[in-house]
Amino acid sequence: MNGLMMDYQLTLPTILRRAETYFGDKEIVTRLPDRSFHRITYAESCRRARALAVALQELGLERGDRVATLCWNHYQHHEAYLGIPCGGFVLHTLNLRLHPNDLAYIATHAGDRAVIVDRSLKPLLDQFVGNTKIEHVFVVEDDYEDLLAGVDPDVWRDPQLDENEAAAMCYTSGTTGLPKGVLYSHRSTMLHTVGVAASNPMSLGISEADSILPVVPMFHANAWGYPYLATFVGAKLVYPGPYLDPQSLLDAFVQEGVTWSAGVPTIWLGILGLLDEDPGTWDLSRMKGMLVGGSAAPRAMIAGFKQRHGINIVHGWGMTETSPVASNSQLVGDLADADDETQFDYISMQGLPLPLVELRHRDEDGNVLPWDGESMGELEIRGPWVAAGYYETPEQADRWTDDGWFRTGDVVSLHPRGYIQIKDRSKDVIKSGGEWISSVELENALMAHPAVAEAAVIAVPDAKWDERPLAAVVLREGRTATPEDLRDFLAPNFAKFWLPDRFEFVSEIPKTSVGKFRKTELREMFAAQAAVSS
Ligand code: ADP
Repeated sequence: MNGLMMDYQLTLPTILRRAETYFGDKEIVTRLPDRSFHRITYAESCRRARALAVALQELGLERGDRVATLCWNHYQHHEAYLGIPCGGFVLHTLNLRLHPNDLAYIATHAGDRAVIVDRSLKPLLDQFVGNTKIEHVFVVEDDYEDLLAGVDPDVWRDPQLDENEAAAMCYTSGTTGLPKGVLYSHRSTMLHTVGVAASNPMSLGISEADSILPVVPMFHANAWGYPYLATFVGAKLVYPGPYLDPQSLLDAFVQEGVTWSAGVPTIWLGILGLLDEDPGTWDLSRMKGMLVGGSAAPRAMIAGFKQRHGINIVHGWGMTETSPVASNSQLVGDLADADDETQFDYISMQGLPLPLVELRHRDEDGNVLPWDGESMGELEIRGPWVAAGYYETPEQADRWTDDGWFRTGDVVSLHPRGYIQIKDRSKDVIKSGGEWISSVELENALMAHPAVAEAAVIAVPDAKWDERPLAAVVLREGRTATPEDLRDFLAPNFAKFWLPDRFEFVSEIPKTSVGKFRKTELREMFAAQAAVSS
C-alpha cells in the first residue's frame, strides 16, 4: 500500500522563494576587490538570481545546458548558485587555481556554453576559452550587469523542474588521473542542505540568527553547501572576495559579527598563528564554531583554538562526490561532557555520518571490517547526496561496488561508537614490511611540536621494507629542531617502525589548488634520493 502524500519536488526554487518571502531583509555582505564591503539584501539577491535565470533563458540556452562560473566568493557568484539552476540550467563552477589546459579540458568535457567570469580572472579565461565550446562570456562588474538589467525579473518563467534534473556540477581536482565530473541533482542538493542543517555538530547548529563566512571557495565542492544552507535557514552571509589572508578574515569576522566560518586547515593554521601573536586584538566572542575539513584538522590546532582562544573547532569530512559534507564531529552521549583532552581526541577524528548517510569499511578481499578502532580498510559510503557515477566517464565505474556503495579511496578505521578515523588516502598509505603506517597520524603528531609549522609524511621506496616514511617539515620562523629532536618527540606515541627514517626540512610543502598537501610532488622530490641515503 502506498502512502497518500504529495509528490512535492525537492528543487532549488523552493529555497529561493522561501528566502525572499521570509528573510528578505537579511544581508549578503561581500568584500570587493577594492577591499570595501558591499551589502545586498536577500530580497534583492533573489530578484537578481531570477533575473539571471530569465536572461539565460532569453539568450536561447536550452534546459540542462551548462553555465560555468570562474569567480571568487561574492554576491554575484551567490546569484549564480541559485539563478542558474532555478532557470533550468546546470551551474558548473570552474576552479580558478587550475592550469588553463586543465580548465580547457574540464569546460569542454562538461560542454559549457556560457561563463560568468570575474574581471580579475578574465586574463585566465582568455588563455583557454578558445579551446572550449563556450559561446557567451559575461564579465562580473561589467556586461554581466547589462545581462541582468536587460530583463524584467518579474517575468519569471518557472521551468517546473523535476527534482532529478541536474542542478550543478563540479570536477574533482584530479590529483590522480583526469578530472572527473560530479553532477548534482536538485534533489541531492536539497537533501544535502537539509542533512547538514539537521546534523547540528556539537550542538552548534546553524540558524537564521547566524552570520556565516564561507572561506571555502565557491569554485570547489559547492562551497561545502553554505550558499544553499544559509539561504535555506535565512542566515546572514559574508563573502570574503579574494581576501583569504588571516588578517583580512579576522577583521571581517569582527566587523560582521561572524558566528560560523568554514575552510581548510591551512587557513585556520594561519589564523591561529596570528591570534597567538596578537591575542586580544580581535574580539571573537560571537564565533560559535569554525568548521575545518578538506584535510585532517591537526589535534594541536583544535586544542590551540579552544584552550588559548575559547573557539570551538568542528571537524568535517567529505568529498566532491558526496556533495561534499558526509560527516562531522558530533560529541554524543557522555562525550558532550567529557574533559577537554577526550573531546579533542574525538574532534580530531572525522566524526559521525550525517543523517541519511551510511558508512562501512572493507579490506582488500571485500570483507566488512569490525568497528574496533584498529582494523584499517577502505571507507565506502552511500546516501541520497552521494554520486552514483561520473559524468560521461564510464571507465571509472569500478569506483562503485556491485551492491551500490561508493569507494572513497580513504583508508580508515572505525571506532566502536562509529567515529571515522582517516588514516590515509589509499594512494598515500605507507606499507612498511607488510604493515600499514598512517601518514596522517604522524603528520598530526609532528604538527604538535612547537617548532613545526607544517609536516607532510610520504612513503619512499626501501630495499628491505618496501617502503619507509619520510617527513618533510617546515619549521616555524626563528625556531629550530633536529631530526633527532623530532624523532624523540614522536617516539613515546608510536611503534618504533612508524618513526620516519628521514626528516627533510623544506621552506614549504607543495599544495594542490585547494590547499591540500601535494604528496605526488614530494614523492618526486625525495623518492629518487632514497637509494643513496638509506
Ligand atoms: P580531491 O579528491 O580532488 O582532493 P576533494 O575535495 O573531493 O578533492 O577531496 C576529498 C578528500 O579529501 C577525501 O577523500 C579525503 O581524503 C580528504 N579529506 C576531506 N576531509 C578530510 C578530513 N576532515 N580529514 C582528512 N581527510 C579529509
